[in-house]
Amino acid sequence: MNANSSGWRPAMPADEETVYPAGSTHTGNRALMVEEPLIFEISNSLNCGVDLPEPEPGRPSRLGNLARDRQLGLPGLSQPEAVRHYTRLSRQNYAIDCGIFPLGSCTMKHNPRLNEQVARLKGFADVHPLQPEGSVQGALAVIDELAHWLVTLTGMHSVAMSPKAGAHGELCGILCIRAALEARGEMREVVLVPESAHGTNPATAAFAGYRVETIPATADGRIDLGALRQRLGTDVAALMITNPNTCGLFERDMVAISEAVHAVGGYVYCDGANFNAIVGRVRPGDLGVDAMHINLHKTFSTPHGGGGPGSGPVVLSEALAPFAPLPIVRRTAEGTLTLIEEETAEADAPESFGRMTAFHGQMGMFTRALSYMLSHGADGLRQVSGDAVLNANYVLRSLEDVLDAPYAHAGPCMHEALFSDAKVAEGISTLDIAKGLIDEGFHPMTMYFPLVVHGAMLVEPTETESKATLDQFIAAMRSVAGRANDGDTSLLQAPLHAPRRRLDETGAARKPVLVWSEVSQFERVE
Ligand SMILES: *Cc1c(COP(=O)(O)O)cnc(C)c1O
Repeated sequence: MNANSSGWRPAMPADEETVYPAGSTHTGNRALMVEEPLIFEISNSLNCGVDLPEPEPGRPSRLGNLARDRQLGLPGLSQPEAVRHYTRLSRQNYAIDCGIFPLGSCTMKHNPRLNEQVARLKGFADVHPLQPEGSVQGALAVIDELAHWLVTLTGMHSVAMSPKAGAHGELCGILCIRAALEARGEMREVVLVPESAHGTNPATAAFAGYRVETIPATADGRIDLGALRQRLGTDVAALMITNPNTCGLFERDMVAISEAVHAVGGYVYCDGANFNAIVGRVRPGDLGVDAMHINLHKTFSTPHGGGGPGSGPVVLSEALAPFAPLPIVRRTAEGTLTLIEEETAEADAPESFGRMTAFHGQMGMFTRALSYMLSHGADGLRQVSGDAVLNANYVLRSLEDVLDAPYAHAGPCMHEALFSDAKVAEGISTLDIAKGLIDEGFHPMTMYFPLVVHGAMLVEPTETESKATLDQFIAAMRSVAGRANDGDTSLLQAPLHAPRRRLDETGAARKPVLVWSEVSQFERVE
């Protein structure tokens, strides 16, 4: 068996031995792709990245009996070893800066570097949330200007800026709705969601204490207005609807839907994660929406995924605006900007439901989003949605003969193209197609979502991909889908060329091994 560069190698289960054919290389590395061990395997508790003084012997601990009595088990590496370990690992990763990231619903678009330059300007990057207001007028102006753009683009009354991601924004919107109902003296129990909803929608409603009920979809992938009307009643607090929806389709009946919900005294929450498909063309306020989060990190670029920062401001109708969370940026009579916080809320925002974040929100995201908006201008933002929809329809029409496209008959899609596994041969699945794409050098599309479509494959190319890139992706998809339709069982083994073969993804998520003492099945190879 070959040892890798550090002298350690994991004891691999027999079926993984084929990944490293005996004698392929002395080190186990493949060209510049280094077989990277776990950090625990290359570390040594005597090593440390910094030079720390030895604790004085016999000195009593200030923590008394709270002091740790055994090793923490943290890996010990010198600085260059730590840097190289993570840099080598990062080369096995895939990122939007490496290639197209066609994850439907996620809107993984290019982040213009101008945004980064602006966010790194010292006046923005070094600002502290506890600085006196007089010294952060520029930062408050960014929040205020961004709020103005968001309200204008959505045709809404006002915006709560502090929520830190889409799901957090959903909670903000639903809490506004609950506060508005309580102000009316009403305790409604139910939130309705369509079948195709993103998982965060029912989760948010349940978290806020509501019972979730599902409204079915029609054969053309949209919410069934008849079924909605039938279910509506005075126990319904809100409808949470995504528009364009997660099948990549515009909810054409949106005005009628809003009117029906309002007629029974309920509110319309719109999941605005897909706003990039309509920005500059449709104003949700004109469709009767009461609250909608905007994923700044999707529609207005900025890097995300892998836990990167998000920001989910919530635009509100006039009816819900009084209940918005603190803090609120306001312009004073003297023209300066000020924050309404707990101390001033009684006079200036008496109906606010409270606070969702310690401070003002994601400042770094605000500067990036505003930089994106100002550099595109109103006409540029309109082109964003046009190009996003054009690219998605190019993908849809280029693949619909090899992959079943369940709603393609109903006309063009919006910003994402949805396919199913209906044409795929027995025994081969959507997962196998995704793994096959990895071998072709592409990050897979979103799989098995939305749930309304069997074996769903949701492709969102975004507007920042060139035709050349889309053509490469389409060619790869056509090849892999063709093999899946022909029953090519070698796909069941894919990926064959990635640093790792098929992993137990559920096990990795549900039972992550994060503690050194549990990593016991590794052996030293001299
Ligand atoms: C991304 C997304 C969300 C959640 O947004 P986060 O910023 O990830 O919390 C909700 N709904 C839809 C449709 C989404 O695509």
